[in-house]
Amino acid sequence: MRRRSFLSSTLAVPASAALLSSLRDEIGKLDIVSSHEHLLWEDERISAKAGLFTLISHYLLNDAVSAGLPPATAKTLEDPKIPLRERWAIFEPYYRAARFTGYGQAFRIAMKDIYGIAEVNASTVEKAEAEIRLMNKPGLYEEVLHRRAKILYGVLDDYWHGDPMRPDARFFVLARKLDWFITPGNAAALKSMEKVTGVAVTSLAGLKAAMEKRLEQSIAQGMIAVKSTLAYSREIRFNEVSEGDAERDFEALAKNARGAPAGTARFTERPYRNLEDHMFHHAMRLAEARGLPVQIHTGTPAGNSGWVENTRPMHLQNVFNLYPKVTFDLFHIGYPYVHEVTVLGKMFPNVHVDFCWAHVLSPATARRALSEMLDAMPYTKILGFGGDYRYVELTYAHAVMARENIARVLAEKVEQGWCTEADAVEIAKALLAGNAARLFPRKG
Ligand SMILES: [Zn+2]
Repeated sequence: MRRRSFLSSTLAVPASAALLSSLRDEIGKLDIVSSHEHLLWEDERISAKAGLFTLISHYLLNDAVSAGLPPATAKTLEDPKIPLRERWAIFEPYYRAARFTGYGQAFRIAMKDIYGIAEVNASTVEKAEAEIRLMNKPGLYEEVLHRRAKILYGVLDDYWHGDPMRPDARFFVLARKLDWFITPGNAAALKSMEKVTGVAVTSLAGLKAAMEKRLEQSIAQGMIAVKSTLAYSREIRFNEVSEGDAERDFEALAKNARGAPAGTARFTERPYRNLEDHMFHHAMRLAEARGLPVQIHTGTPAGNSGWVENTRPMHLQNVFNLYPKVTFDLFHIGYPYVHEVTVLGKMFPNVHVDFCWAHVLSPATARRALSEMLDAMPYTKILGFGGDYRYVELTYAHAVMARENIARVLAEKVEQGWCTEADAVEIAKALLAGNAARLFPRKG
């Protein structure tokens, strides 16, 4: 018995390794459509003069803070007035602790594959910095996004641009947020809205008209999806609230000249919550009218603070029921609420689940989640990759990790007889490009 199981397990290994390697090859050749990016425009990136700690700042620095790097010190590490070697000496003990996390892996892959630095340490930091500076010129995006990562294009959330601006169509299609009109906070915000939209915001109807105007301005710049990151500031349960209740909140808000009301540790006590909830539903109706898909941040916020429970995907269930014609894209596999997004994606024809950010948040969780989701829902509803980075090198590295995760999960499925190798390649194509291209088509 013992000998038999030993033999069968040793025989099984080479077959699996060959299968995995063959799937890796196939999946390595596939093009990607990225469901979500925060990449700077190439000219912004070049004039920002990125260096080693620029790449570290997104998101590896957060894991260093988690390992004990004081946040105030973390903020100084990008300061070019402090010699690079000194900054590295401060960072290194925390890097040693964090280098194996998903963020750490992405950073190491980027440095090795793109800059030829096998190991970043005290003796290589200056070379690493020099290599990054050397490549920081026009052509960087073509080389890294198109040639190396095989990313045809990505859905860009350029939240740092106040006004909507048409991005470079070689690399991006545009997602824009309406969150500002959902959670205005104070009278000054209403005044700013009037300024950018030219609409008088003196009533609930005015606020809605301003939101509509902003949407039209964004569509004119090529917007193809609505994005929401309200989970960073409040619970994403949006009750159905009457016009009258929302109007009462609006009147109180319009009298609040002093700035945003004080938040609480849980971000749950929202003085104008009725107005916010009502406006969220208005945004959904606008998305429905314009046929725009809606991308929603669910799961843990980025950074080292925030209230995770506010981000539960299950809070959104009424929204999926109310707007069956709107396609919803639930971000970050709801991590850690992976099973919530899985069951929502399984139940609702209009709900898709999205692995953007997920392969670097926790590569192992992403693999387990993908395996379970493939068992639970049609694979046409799973968006398998979104880089979710500000810097192209890290989006490239994330894509490497996503391809590896998808290959490993599908190799296991083929091994188990769940599908054939040809099926696996068809699924990988859908996960990496087909599903995202269907939801977020690039015209022309
Ligand atoms: Zn994001």
